[in-house]
This record gives sequence, C-alpha cells and structure tokens, in this order.
Amino acid sequence: QKYSEEQAKRKELYNHIQETKGNIRVFCRCRPLNKDETSTKSATIVDFDGAKDGELGIITGNNSKKSFKFDRVYTPKDGQVDVFADASPMVVSVLDGYNVCIFAYGQTGTGKTFTMEGTPQNRGVNYRTVEQLFEVARERRETITYNISVSVLEVYNEQIRDLLATSPASKKLEIKQSSDGSHQVPGLIEANVENINEVWNVLQAGSNARAVGSNNVNEHSSRSHCMLSIMVKAKNLMNGDCTKSKLWLVDLAGSERLAKTDVQGERLKEAQNINRSLSALGDVIYALATKSSHIPYRNSKLTHLLQDSLGGDSKTLMFVQISPSEHDVSETLSSLNFATRVRGVELGPARRQL
Ligand code: ADP
Repeated sequence: QKYSEEQAKRKELYNHIQETKGNIRVFCRCRPLNKDETSTKSATIVDFDGAKDGELGIITGNNSKKSFKFDRVYTPKDGQVDVFADASPMVVSVLDGYNVCIFAYGQTGTGKTFTMEGTPQNRGVNYRTVEQLFEVARERRETITYNISVSVLEVYNEQIRDLLATSPASKKLEIKQSSDGSHQVPGLIEANVENINEVWNVLQAGSNARAVGSNNVNEHSSRSHCMLSIMVKAKNLMNGDCTKSKLWLVDLAGSERLAKTDVQGERLKEAQNINRSLSALGDVIYALATKSSHIPYRNSKLTHLLQDSLGGDSKTLMFVQISPSEHDVSETLSSLNFATRVRGVELGPARRQL
C-alpha cells in the first residue's frame, strides 16, 4: 500500500517535471493596499475577475482596461502557502538534477521580499524551498544521498559581495568558467547545511551582513540584487551516478524609474546599473523564450551569475510583483509589460501549458 502510494506520488512529481521541463513561467502577484493607501481611500486599479485563468486587467482610465495573461495570477488574498504550492514542483526538480532559477521582479514596496523571504510568521519561498528540499531528500534517502550547500551574495553596482564572508566589502569576486563549463565564483563561501535550522542561521548571517555599511538598510536592499544559491550534489546509491545542480533564489533590485531630477552622482550610477542589469535579464529570458541563437548572458553580473540556471533544460520562474494602487499605475504597467515580453508571448499563441 505504502509503496504504491509513494510510486503514485513520484509519478505525479515526474509529470510535473515533464510539464515544466525547459520552461519559463511567469507568476503575477499583487500585494494588498497598504495602510496609507487604505486611509487615503486610494483606488484599486487591478481587475482579478479572470485571475483563476491567469488573466489580469489594469484599469488605465475611464472605462479602459489593459489585459495581461500569465501562468498564474495571485490576488492579495492568496497567501504564501498558495504561492509555494505552485512553485514547489519546480523547486523539487533541482533534486532530480535540473538547474532552477526563481526570482522576484517589481517596483520597490510591491512584495518581492515578502514573496521570497517572507516574515518569521509567514515564511516565503526561500525558507519553504529549503524545507521541502530536506523533506524530499529524506524521503529518498534509501536510494539517493544528497549533499546541500548554500551561498548568499549580493550584486550592488555590478560588484559581487559575499554576504557570508567576515568582511564582504574587502573581497573582490569575479565569475569564472570551470573546466566542466559551469560558472563559478572562486572564493565565494559555500556553507554546508544539513537541516533547516542551519540554513536559517546562514540566511540570518547573510541578511545581517547586507545591512553593514549602509545608512539605510531598506534603501540599500531596494538597490541591490540579493541572491541565494543552493548547490545540490546527488549520489544515486543504486547505480553510483552523481549529479550536481543549482537553484538560484533572487530578490531583484527595485525596477522603478527614478525622476530625472532626483538622480545625481552615486544615485545616478546605481540607477544605471540597476537598469542595465534588469534589462539584461529581460533580454536573456526573451532570447531564450524566442529561441534566439545568441543569448547575451555577459551583459551584466546578474545574468552572468545565473547563466547555468537560465536556458538549456533549466527551469525559470519569475514572480512579477505589483501594487494595486492607482498611484502606481505607470510602474505597474511597466512591470507587466516587462513580464509579458519575458514570456515571449508576443510571437503568437502561448506555447506552453501548465
Ligand atoms: P519589496 O521587497 O518589493 O520592496 P516588500 O516585500 O518589502 O516589498 O513589501 C512591502 C510591504 O508590503 C511589506 O510590509 C510587506 O510585508 C507587505 N506585503 C507585500 N506583499 C504582501 C502580501 N501579499 N500580503 C501581505 N503583505 C504584503
């Protein structure tokens, strides 16, 4: 009985894997109105009538609506559990040897960190991912042994900082290609982890390091990409096969455009670097979705770092995060347009099925 149950579960998992193989999927998540918006009676411009079918409408003016289609649409009522349920098959596929990349894109304040990190009471994708990896690894322990390690880094102004290093700022890190073709950052700390508590400690250390040297932690984190990399080594005890795979979990810098008058000096450089790396990410995924012969990975540190987990038979999931408020309409439209382009759907009918 137990065996057949397990087999059915595996089969289900396998089907999920087949369906998502080589896929780029885009999930759209809208946060609730915040206190300020509620108290000023800010209007909601998002129409969720078609949300169950992945459709979303943005009311752009008097009786005009712009429609978008994604692989999933989450309303402000959908919680962390709902979101993770959809991401989880992709996450688990890293244990089957696939490279996976999950990232959150959007204007600052739209819930990127909420989706990825969450809060201690309401954990996000990062924690749930690692928790599930350990769980599935335990279920499979009689046939496969897994070794899991974690790195935490930040890309700020096109520089890589190792957030697990004792003095992250003084360490100069570059991306190198290894003899097996994979991309590595020599000198980056990889912490071996055996349980979720160890991972939690590593994540805490990373987020503390992120705050060091910045006057305003929130501002700093909105202008840098925070990247968690989970390396999985698997050894199949039946046939001795070994595989290596990598999962990236990325909380991107805020995608908002700054008013030209606000931008000078250091701030201008930051804005240019963010712009450049987010455009590079969009270009890479678009090139992959449209099966272009040239994939421009080298145009930014971000895409160069993610190279092994974007393209080939790896799986990519992007959360496009939006605000429901009328005040954010132009940033919301710009994020949704970015996400639509990334899906490559301009080329014709959607080619993938969930
Ligand atoms: P970002 O990382 O995009 O700058 P945050 O994750 O910091 O945005 O979110 C901004 C605020 O909105 C936070 O206080 C966060 O807790 C809250 N928030 C975002 N998304 C949700 C959600 N789906 N449900 C409840 N609160 C949310």
